[in-house]
Amino acid sequence: MKVGVIGSGMMGAGIAQVSAAAGHQVVLTDVALDRAEKGKAGIEKLLARQVAKGTLEEAAAAATLARISPAGDTAGLADADFVIEAATENEGLKQKIFAGLTLAPHALLATNTSSISITMLGASTDRPDRFLGLHFFNPVPVMQLVEIIPGLATSDATRAAARDYIGTLGKTAIVSEDSPSFIVNRVLCPMLNEAIFALGEGVGSVVDIDTGLRLGANHPMGPLTLADFVGLDTLLAIMHVMQKASGDPKYRPAPLLTKYVEAGWYGRKSGRGFYDYSGEKPVPTR
Ligand code: NAD
Repeated sequence: MKVGVIGSGMMGAGIAQVSAAAGHQVVLTDVALDRAEKGKAGIEKLLARQVAKGTLEEAAAAATLARISPAGDTAGLADADFVIEAATENEGLKQKIFAGLTLAPHALLATNTSSISITMLGASTDRPDRFLGLHFFNPVPVMQLVEIIPGLATSDATRAAARDYIGTLGKTAIVSEDSPSFIVNRVLCPMLNEAIFALGEGVGSVVDIDTGLRLGANHPMGPLTLADFVGLDTLLAIMHVMQKASGDPKYRPAPLLTKYVEAGWYGRKSGRGFYDYSGEKPVPTR
């Protein structure tokens, strides 16, 4: 199958990598050729690390890379069978991308959006019946799950084809209704937010809250550590979307989350969140 990926950032590059590793030919596009090439260079680095660790054959890494063609525009998607948009999270930008596409009549089009309505994005394409959400998780080569989100107009054949494609990647698909944050973030983000409420109210320290959920609920990572990974700005944005879309006050962001974002403490990516990342090991800040 020929797969087109639009956007060669963190998610797009990951989707390109797993698709190529599964044997699909991939065109990886971005706003300019050098961006797409940078995306491919990142994939090369990750594959080289796997080869060095002995978890991937050198020939398999080379074959995966050879299947990925970077491009600075979408002309090469004209004969793609499956196109996945993974560009910046912005409604207007995604709609503009869809309006500029010339795809084969049979081609399926998917978006990796984490929050925008699939039905609304589908309506802005020339193929709402062959359009759906495919929500991959970060980092794509590691995370096993993909959420399939049909819009109102998505056909059964499109759902089935998407499931087949996810199967070729060796990943597990679940189906979510087109509802804000879909399934995983709908459940996960309020839990992270609640941990921040508990911290703000002095119910426990950073270490006690994280240890509590790790050892008491068997989570592989404490919620405050995970919130720092996700990015506190991203978590705050998701809570705002959920609150606005549902009108339900149960989704209001924890005041401490808002404060941290106002301070520029975004978590790992900014060097400080609920832990301080400036040293060799993260140090709890409360
Ligand atoms: P990113 O910022 O790493 O990458 C976005 C890429 O899109 C950039 O390379 C940018 O140059 C490119 N781009 C911007 N405008 C474009 C255009 N007009 N045409 C082609 N490319 C364009 O972002 P990301 O984290 O990879 O997120 C991409 C999408 O995946 C978003 O919709 C996001 O919500 C979703 N998503 C992100 C995560 C995550 O954890 N980061 C998880 C699931 C879904």
